[in-house]
Amino acid sequence: MKEYCPYCKKEVDYKIEKRDVKEFKGIEINTYENVAVCRECHQDLYVNEIEEKNNERIYELYREKANIIKPQDIVNLREKYDISQRELTAILGFGKMTINRYERGCVPTKSQSDYIRLLIDNDNKFIEKVKESYENGSINDKTYERIVSTNIENEISKDDIQDMYRRVINNSLRLKPNIFNGYKEFDLELVENIISYISSKVSNLTITSLNKYLWFIDILSFNQRGVSITGLTYQKQQYGPTIIDQRYKEISLLDDKYIRNDYEDESGTKTIITSKKNFDLSKLKDTEIEIINKIIKLLKNKKVTDISNMSHEEEGWKKTKKIDEISFEYAMNLKINQ
Ligand SMILES: [Zn+2]
Repeated sequence: MKEYCPYCKKEVDYKIEKRDVKEFKGIEINTYENVAVCRECHQDLYVNEIEEKNNERIYELYREKANIIKPQDIVNLREKYDISQRELTAILGFGKMTINRYERGCVPTKSQSDYIRLLIDNDNKFIEKVKESYENGSINDKTYERIVSTNIENEISKDDIQDMYRRVINNSLRLKPNIFNGYKEFDLELVENIISYISSKVSNLTITSLNKYLWFIDILSFNQRGVSITGLTYQKQQYGPTIIDQRYKEISLLDDKYIRNDYEDESGTKTIITSKKNFDLSKLKDTEIEIINKIIKLLKNKKVTDISNMSHEEEGWKKTKKIDEISFEYAMNLKINQ
C-alpha cells in the first residue's frame, strides 16, 4: 500500500494501526479507528478513504449511543407527508440548508435531533407545528393543505383532523337563527346525514351540485314553512349559491357518513361524494323529508350546468351581489316551485 508521505516527501509504503476511540462529542462509544503509518518515518499519514470509513463507523455508533436520528428517518418523515427538504426546513424553523445537510449524513446536534424525533414519533405535535408555520407564513396554503390531507390517511391522528374540520365548519356556520340561515340553527350532524341521504339517491354527486341541492332544499323549505332545514348560510359565487367561506370543502372531507373522491377528467378535477348509506333521518320531520325528496327527484337526472342555470333563475341569486350572503327573503317566490 503506497501513499505520499509529506515527511519523507515521496511515495512510501504504509501499514495500518488500530487505535482506541473512547468517546465522540462527549458520548462514550468505545470503538477503534484505523490509522495509516509511514513504514519509513513512522508518522501518521492522512488517507482519505480510511478516514471516511472511520468517520462512518464513529458517527454510526455516536448516533446509536446518543440516540441521534439517521438521515433515513428524516427522508421517511418527508415522504410520509410528501414534503420537500425546503418545506421541512421552513416548518422546523431551521437554517436554510440544515435538512439537506442532515440527509447527506451530517450529524445533528443532540437537541435538534431530539426535537425532530419528537415530531417523527408524534403526528399531532408535527401537525401542530405545521399549523403554526402556516399561521406565521413560513409555509403556504398549498403545502399546508397537502400535509393535512396526507395526514387524514394516518389512523393515529385521523380523529384530530376530523375534529379540526368540525371546529372550522362550526366556527363559520353556527350562527344565531337569522334571515341568512333561514331562521334555523345550523346542525352539522344533521347536514352530514342529509348529504349521506342525497348521495345515496344521486350517483356521481359532485360537490358543485351538492351546494345547489342543499340551497334548493332550504329555500323550498323556507318558502313552504318559513324556516330552512339545514341552517346553512349561502353566498353568491360564480356558478351559483355555495356554502359560505367555502366550508363545503371541509364538509366534504368529513368521513362518518360519506366518502369524498377526487378525480381528473378533461374539464379538470371533479370531487364526487359517495354515500356510506348509514344516514339517520330520525331528526327530520316528514314534511322535511318530503321537501328533500322533491328536490332530489327534480335534480337527479340533470347535468351540473343545468342545475347551475336553474339556480340562476331564482330571485335569491339574481338580487344578491357577488360574494354576498343570500337572504331567504327571496324564497317567497320560487321558480323551482312552479
Ligand atoms: Zn514517512
